[in-house]
Amino acid sequence: MDDRMFRAAMGKFATGVTVIASEVDGDVHGMTANAFMSVSLDPKLVLISVDGKAKMNEVIKKSEKFTVNILSGDQKEMSMIFAGQIKDGKKVEFDTFEGLPAIGDSLVSLACNLYQAHDAGDHTLFIGEVKNLNVQDGEPLAFYEGNYKQMT
Ligand code: FAD
Repeated sequence: MDDRMFRAAMGKFATGVTVIASEVDGDVHGMTANAFMSVSLDPKLVLISVDGKAKMNEVIKKSEKFTVNILSGDQKEMSMIFAGQIKDGKKVEFDTFEGLPAIGDSLVSLACNLYQAHDAGDHTLFIGEVKNLNVQDGEPLAFYEGNYKQMT
């Protein structure tokens, strides 16, 4: 099986889109991720999968904290910025949530402490314990077969 076929098959799983945000020594870093899932209710755990080559991988290993921001349908530009699909060098203003950088107007922001990290192939699975969350009404941004989709 080649990589393209595997990617195409995984792309058939429709997801939402998140931006992970963290900070080390005052440097805020964001990264778009759709490999996100809820793991446990007690304790409240979520999981993200981050490429071993991504800058975010070393950032989370150092900070041991991050936010997961579930994007709304009108935040496609945010996703593109933090996936490196738009590179205009524009400064992005982050909100602060529980002392961590967060994306304002997201449907949900989860403030997490790193609970466990597991290397899995070329990615690291970061499990975060959710310390607090913010929820807003709205429609989600979706991702399917490599393309952004609006739910409405
Ligand atoms: P970089 O590539 O250096 O940064 C990412 C982009 O964010 C850059 O353009 C940078 O300028 C910008 N940026 C970062 N911080 C700031 C800041 N403070 N102010 C302004 N701009 C900033 N990869 C995964 O590992 N796991 C996933 O689950 C995943 N899901 C994805 C889902 C979608 C829908 C898309 C489009 C991509 C996904 N990716 C995923 C790929 C990942 O988003 C990109 O490879 C990303 O570029 C990796 O980021 P990085 O941490 O290496 O940092």
